[in-house]
Amino acid sequence: MTLVLKSNYKQLSAGIKCYFCNGTHTCRECPIEANMAPLLKKKVGNMMEYYIANNFKCPECKEMKLRVIGNHTPSLDIICEHCENKFEVKSKCLSSYKLPNDITLPHGSYIDYTIRINEGLNLIVLIYGVDRIKKEINVREVIYADNWNLTNKDLIDVSQRKDSNLSTIYIKNKKFLKKLDLDMSKLKITFQEDFDNFKNSYIESNY
Ligand SMILES: [Zn+2]
Ligand SMILES: [Zn+2]
Repeated sequence: MTLVLKSNYKQLSAGIKCYFCNGTHTCRECPIEANMAPLLKKKVGNMMEYYIANNFKCPECKEMKLRVIGNHTPSLDIICEHCENKFEVKSKCLSSYKLPNDITLPHGSYIDYTIRINEGLNLIVLIYGVDRIKKEINVREVIYADNWNLTNKDLIDVSQRKDSNLSTIYIKNKKFLKKLDLDMSKLKITFQEDFDNFKNSYIESNY
């Protein structure tokens, strides 16, 4: 306890402030951020489904008819109201300056996924970075793998994890997949307000 206080004191006197919670530690050491990270990731995932539906044409029929369907459908997030194609949206935070060509995506139930694939599922992968200080998400790239791509093992490998019913989607080289055109004016998504509400209710219920 004394140690903690001492280091707090030292950091306070050095003017260190956490951008995340305004505490006297660097944001890399923030205990609240560490606890919230998985929840926040989930929330960002939900936001991204709406981001895709509101800003993109259907990759198959090119109509502005994508619609987010509820939360409780495994391996299915969006349908096109025009051509009835089905899409799953996966979002991935990558902050390296240069994006790698291969992308690993943790995924839910392997069995659900296989059923969806047989129903014609397509996959939209949104890659984003986060500016923690400005509380901004920067959309970096949106990749599209259609049903044919998803069943082509040379492009994408989907495997069941050991001792688990979960699966992993491995995109071997995203260069061989389609990129969806981004609206340059909508690459930044501010989440300050959402973030504040979320953080406050989290802190209230946990501390
Ligand atoms: Zn903090
Ligand atoms: Zn469509």
